[in-house]
Amino acid sequence: MVPDGSVGLIAARGTTTTMGIQTEPIGSVPRPTELLRGFEDFAQGRIDEAALRVLTEKALADTVSRFEATGSPVITDGEQDKPSFLTYPVAGIPDLAPGGPVVPFADGHTRQLPVLTSGPFRYTARAVDQLRAAQRLTSQPVKQAVIAPSALSLLYPADGIEGYPRDQFLADLADEAEADIRACLDEGAAAVQLDFTEGRLSLKLDPSGGLLRDFVALNNEVLGRFSAEERARIGVHTCPGGDQDSTHSADVDYADLLPELFRLKAGRFYVQLASESDPGRVLGIIAEHLPADARVFVGVTDPIDPRVETPEEVRDRVLEAARFIPVDRLGTCDDCGFAPFADDTSTSRDTAFAKIAARVEGTKLASEALGL
Ligand SMILES: [Zn+2]
Repeated sequence: MVPDGSVGLIAARGTTTTMGIQTEPIGSVPRPTELLRGFEDFAQGRIDEAALRVLTEKALADTVSRFEATGSPVITDGEQDKPSFLTYPVAGIPDLAPGGPVVPFADGHTRQLPVLTSGPFRYTARAVDQLRAAQRLTSQPVKQAVIAPSALSLLYPADGIEGYPRDQFLADLADEAEADIRACLDEGAAAVQLDFTEGRLSLKLDPSGGLLRDFVALNNEVLGRFSAEERARIGVHTCPGGDQDSTHSADVDYADLLPELFRLKAGRFYVQLASESDPGRVLGIIAEHLPADARVFVGVTDPIDPRVETPEEVRDRVLEAARFIPVDRLGTCDDCGFAPFADDTSTSRDTAFAKIAARVEGTKLASEALGL
């Protein structure tokens, strides 16, 4: 496994060895209808775990081969096995009850988190198992998305848990999050990406920025346990939370978020940008606040827009970004995953892979235009 996702290294496997601008997906790909039906059948007791596993593996194999066909130098497992980007570590645990925080989206729909009822808090699923399953099917570098501990901190109830204080929960959570990340690094993930969609949302819940600072401090408590070399492969993804072609916090100004977000001790930042109304202004903020030793991957395709971008549009977005950010610290990505929640069918697999292919091709065109 090659622990580096540069276009140049991967291109070396083919016919050219030129270095170019790095490009990576965010993570999720819409699940096939057959798998979604399998999840439902399993939940209703109509099929057993082994039968569900067959469907998941079939979906994963198809996802990996379609990912490879896009030419994406780094791929993911498409999160086929995750119920959602947020809840995979707690799927099926008995210590959860309904009634956690409600997240409202701009189109009126909501998502509600569960709430923890007892401790000690332990993950029931590890991202490294998903990483290994994808690695077995490909020789391409695979990146792995994990949930940021700050998101899971929202599972602890406001009125506390008898015999399991919040500080003990946060200590357990930090240990679990560290283990989740470290296992993926040790297994040769091209990058490990913390999904931090609640960062932007936090400014809506608490415009004073106090909650955001708490989130950053908790995540830094975990990130600080890694060496500089390890952190170079650890990234943070920020977005306004895509679900069912809507968002929860696109109206929060990046100027309020990014300076604090860039205090995270990560080597990579994956920033939704294509769907921003004024990308130039955001690029200016990124250029001013991006840590000197970090690389920023800017979103050049918008999973919420049903129209597939052309490679030329992507190229022009990259060239715009390169006016603000030195190319050796610039990368591209999709704005977000294409189905962060498994039951989100608002985008088809065909559209998702067409957008990924446009990102790859457009990034290549930009690299050529820049003489890289
Ligand atoms: Zn996202």
